[in-house]
Amino acid sequence: MALIVQKYGGTSVGSTERIATVAEKVMATRSQGNDVVVVVSAMSGETNRLVALAKSLADPPKAREFDVLLATGEQVTISLLSMTLEARGCPARSYTGSQVHILTDSAHTKARILEIDDKRIHDDLAQGTVVVVAGFQGTDAQGNITTLGRGGSDTTAVALAAALKADECQIYTDVDGVYTTDPRVVHQARRLDKICFEEMLEMASLGSKVLQIRAVEFASKYNVPLRVLSSFKEGQGTLIASEDETMEKALISGIAFNRDEAKLTLLGVPDQPGIAYHILGHIADANIEVDMIIQNIGADGTTDFTFTVHHNDYKNALTILQNIAKELGVREVLGDDSIVKISLVGVGMRSHAGIASTMFKTLADEGINIQMISTSEIKISVVVHEKYLELGVRALHAAFNLDEAAS
Ligand code: ADP
Ligand code: ASP
Ligand code: MG
Repeated sequence: MALIVQKYGGTSVGSTERIATVAEKVMATRSQGNDVVVVVSAMSGETNRLVALAKSLADPPKAREFDVLLATGEQVTISLLSMTLEARGCPARSYTGSQVHILTDSAHTKARILEIDDKRIHDDLAQGTVVVVAGFQGTDAQGNITTLGRGGSDTTAVALAAALKADECQIYTDVDGVYTTDPRVVHQARRLDKICFEEMLEMASLGSKVLQIRAVEFASKYNVPLRVLSSFKEGQGTLIASEDETMEKALISGIAFNRDEAKLTLLGVPDQPGIAYHILGHIADANIEVDMIIQNIGADGTTDFTFTVHHNDYKNALTILQNIAKELGVREVLGDDSIVKISLVGVGMRSHAGIASTMFKTLADEGINIQMISTSEIKISVVVHEKYLELGVRALHAAFNLDEAAS
């Protein structure tokens, strides 16, 4: 007998018919002799609706109250699923995050899970009850409701799987696995049978929203076998696990992209010690995270400095830079929020040269100008104009033989 944690995303619980289908799948897993813990998201579109509702009254809304609101979406689906299971003769109990003591820090809207008390869940499982837990939410030490950031139900599921020492954590969604790139953008994208934690971490952090990055971090840290599967289609999905010999030794495993960044440039920055610290210090003080950074070689005692931030922080960052420009003696501040970041990811890159040049040639052949470049051992990212997103990703997908037909 195994203990399985299953997570169903928004589309999978998007209507009463779909909730009924989820109930059937849960019951089928249980009838094979498994203990089942289910984590559900809010019905599709519901979290967006709640965000818009809040912002129509207060922008930004008070973080504590915003979380109280956002957490309601998942409370609807845990009860609906549990009722459906009970009505079909399957014992089930629903729990909010706080009821199963998903303790988090107090960082509202992006809280981190610190601890889970698994006693109540184990007691229910021992009675043969299916436990249905609300994703995306927890409670801080003061008893305030917190949420885990968009896509956070994935993290609830993996954290529960780790705490309960589950045999597998299954993430059911609207695609049948992790693909070489978002199959909605590149139709030739290919499903991967396996991908290692390290690559999945990069893919998630570089913009592939199929799994929340913290879910992958948790799975990797606690070695939770994680599988992404379709709620609508049978299949083995994609296993995310530690790197091993049986993994495909592809040069490039996937292409991620991120539409959520904006670029800021300071022209004519005095080329002297401490300048980067000064600029980024002001940005950090405003709690704005910086992603890519480029500083040009200095000429005539000045240099140019460019960095990217999340879209949501763009206006704020631009205002900060405009305010400090005079004090720092900067010639001009420029902003550009029409950019995308495209990244190639693959552990195979470690042992191969020439990937960057193939990437740059492919983009050049399509007439795509590269605005920024950043590399690490297992990824290369470029920033380009947003109008080139689809063209660039498709061209790279073909150039690195990732297309379905090429496999
Ligand atoms: P859920 O609501 O089930 O959590 P999400 O919308 O969060 O679903 O994640 C699934 C979506 O992730 C897919 O519909 C797909 O468009 C997108 N996606 C992005 N990159 C990838 C990828 N590499 N492989 C599969 N899906 C991807
Ligand atoms: N409902 C939340 C969201 O839409 C959490 C999740 O679905 O994972 O982001
Ligand atoms: Mg998701």
